[in-house]
Amino acid sequence: MSDATRDATQYVVRDGVAVVTLDNPPVNGLNNALRAGVMQHLKAADADPAVKAVVIIGSAKAFSGGADIREFNAPRLKPDLPAVNDQQDAMGKPLVAAIGGFALGGGLELALGCHYRVAAPKAQLGLPEVKLGILPGSGGTQRLPRVIPMPEAVKMMTSGNSIPAEKAKELGLVDEIAQGDLLQSAIQFARSRVGQALPRLRDARAKLDEDPQAFFARVREQVAKESKGYPAPLLIVECAEAAVTRPFDEGRRLERANFDRLVAGPESRALRHMFFAERQTSKIPDVPEDTPVREVNRVAVIGAGTMGGGIAMSFANAGIPVTLVDMTEEALNRGINLIRKNYSATVDKGRLTQADMDKRIGLIRGSTDLGGIANADMVIEAVFERMDVKQELFRKLDGVAKKGAILATNTSTLDVDQIAAATRRPSDVVGTHFFSPANVMRLLEVVRGRETAKDVLATTMKLGKRLKKVPVVSGVCDGFIGNRMLEKYTQQAYFLIDEGASPQQVDGALQRWGMAMGPFTMYDMAGNDIGWEIRKRRYRERPDFVYSRVADRVCELGRFGQKAGKGFYRYEPGSRKPLPDPEVDSIISAYRAEIGVQPRHVSDEEIVQRCMYALANEGARILEEGIALRASDIDMVYLTGYGFPPYRGGPMFYADGVGLAKVLDAMRGFQKGYQGTQWKPAPLLVRLAEAGKRFNE
Ligand code: NAD
Repeated sequence: MSDATRDATQYVVRDGVAVVTLDNPPVNGLNNALRAGVMQHLKAADADPAVKAVVIIGSAKAFSGGADIREFNAPRLKPDLPAVNDQQDAMGKPLVAAIGGFALGGGLELALGCHYRVAAPKAQLGLPEVKLGILPGSGGTQRLPRVIPMPEAVKMMTSGNSIPAEKAKELGLVDEIAQGDLLQSAIQFARSRVGQALPRLRDARAKLDEDPQAFFARVREQVAKESKGYPAPLLIVECAEAAVTRPFDEGRRLERANFDRLVAGPESRALRHMFFAERQTSKIPDVPEDTPVREVNRVAVIGAGTMGGGIAMSFANAGIPVTLVDMTEEALNRGINLIRKNYSATVDKGRLTQADMDKRIGLIRGSTDLGGIANADMVIEAVFERMDVKQELFRKLDGVAKKGAILATNTSTLDVDQIAAATRRPSDVVGTHFFSPANVMRLLEVVRGRETAKDVLATTMKLGKRLKKVPVVSGVCDGFIGNRMLEKYTQQAYFLIDEGASPQQVDGALQRWGMAMGPFTMYDMAGNDIGWEIRKRRYRERPDFVYSRVADRVCELGRFGQKAGKGFYRYEPGSRKPLPDPEVDSIISAYRAEIGVQPRHVSDEEIVQRCMYALANEGARILEEGIALRASDIDMVYLTGYGFPPYRGGPMFYADGVGLAKVLDAMRGFQKGYQGTQWKPAPLLVRLAEAGKRFNE
């Protein structure tokens, strides 16, 4: 046995019962060392005449969290989990899984390979593989429906949601809930089964008491509707059906083949990338994880508008008291009423109780007096997007905020360093760029200013997690990570219109590709006037930015989007459904004539390539400039803030998948077309493409 194997498991025999302890912190991931250890111990226990029964136990927190996902990308190491399951099935002595905490994925499959399962009252059992685009690959799809009713098994496997011990007991998945010490109970249980016939799930019949054909036809229809183009759920259903219609070993072979197919497929690769990417964002190379953080127990939000209200709700949802400040009673009341309305809508939908709503509202206190923020540990500003307004406010905050308070700005385009410079404590200033609606969107760009102190950054990142957001560090630049990239995407979307596409064609192509919303639908929703204001500023400040003027023409006619009933589309009163509008077609035709462009057919493929490669190219610059810490952070920004489809893994991951050499080639082709001078491949992209490398290594 190697040292690594000894580390991951332990083995003792107590009064005739062998206890195999999984000891691979933090979650008893089933890596190779652990599997090999379990295998060895099971064989030893079976061969030892002094051993009458065997218990497998993990820690109080985790029986096992399942497979080590990193091993999916490497050749399969022996023994794999199915081989361990075979050894379990070969045991001639009672084998009991003692489940404290969670048994998930491969962890539950290991437990299903035992003859019995005893669980602690707080245990959670589940097969969450579908959330990573795969399926339980070690007999789970065959054994689970042999121990609990098929409809419940299908629900668990296609949703990926786990169930608590109590429910598991009800369904028959757990044989006993341990009232006292888990190990003692499991040992006792094991002893009580010595000499009895051992129930092996592989020999059991699947639990379905209706005609399989009718049942699975219904399930397929339902699951197809819910699976939104992901292949895993339907393949899970196929495996579950085999549990009824085919012998165990055939079902297991089908399961393995489907598993291998999914693991190698693009959807699961992307979802696994996202899984790791999310865990990476809080790692900041020069800010160690043990950096002491400041206490944040009460906050103040300045500005009770669209963003301030949503930000205040985010804090209240996390149980943190917040003072919401605006200039006038009127503005404040408008803001607080909107918060009430938003909560009420959630209560009406049955997703929040009235009592919880009252508790949350009770945590939000309104004020028109800036002096009221003196005891806040953190102040977040969400006032008008003007440098003079923000600087003036920060000067005042400097005067009233207590020493050590974090001063944050929600600006989306302004220079955080200039805002910080208005105070005498720039090291306490940080950017917290929430996305609209702030109480819903998961992305939080945490903007690290030139002088932002390390503990301020660490505190803000941790706070982001407390708010259940995905905090991503961004350096200071115009638009930070997300909006700076969006600028290039938008630019291409407009050029495509200039050349011959319609807004509905651009939106349609990108939506079919997977974006939650096409760009023109998005602008109409956000308000076209916002972009117009930014462009007007940029016409003065950034002559290097080249824009199609078609959006200005649309705005000049007051077509500000949904709120005006018309934008790039028209809207029926009270409806948000974008409808094509011939007036927009005329605006576009007139603009083409004005700039002398003969419209041509634009393919959906070109639309997707130009918009996506524009994102990846700007992402490469952002990476090279050190604005983002890593390519996967950029992917997280798009996945959580911009409706990027998870199964595409983010713009950088997508470009990696296409192949950077191919991406570069396509860009060089675009350089020859309309507004081709706007395509300047980022030096990093060129270097990586030439070296055959990827953004995400
Ligand atoms: P808004 O116009 O809806 O709200 C601004 C609020 O600030 C108003 O209620 C106003 O009365 C108040 N206010 C202005 N000056 C103030 C002062 N000195 N003291 C107290 N209150 C003051 O604006 P918004 O859309 O919520 O945007 C706020 C900030 O958030 C801006 O910096 C904006 O760029 C940024 N942001 C907006 C979005 C978005 O989608 N709307 C997204 C991300 C970031």
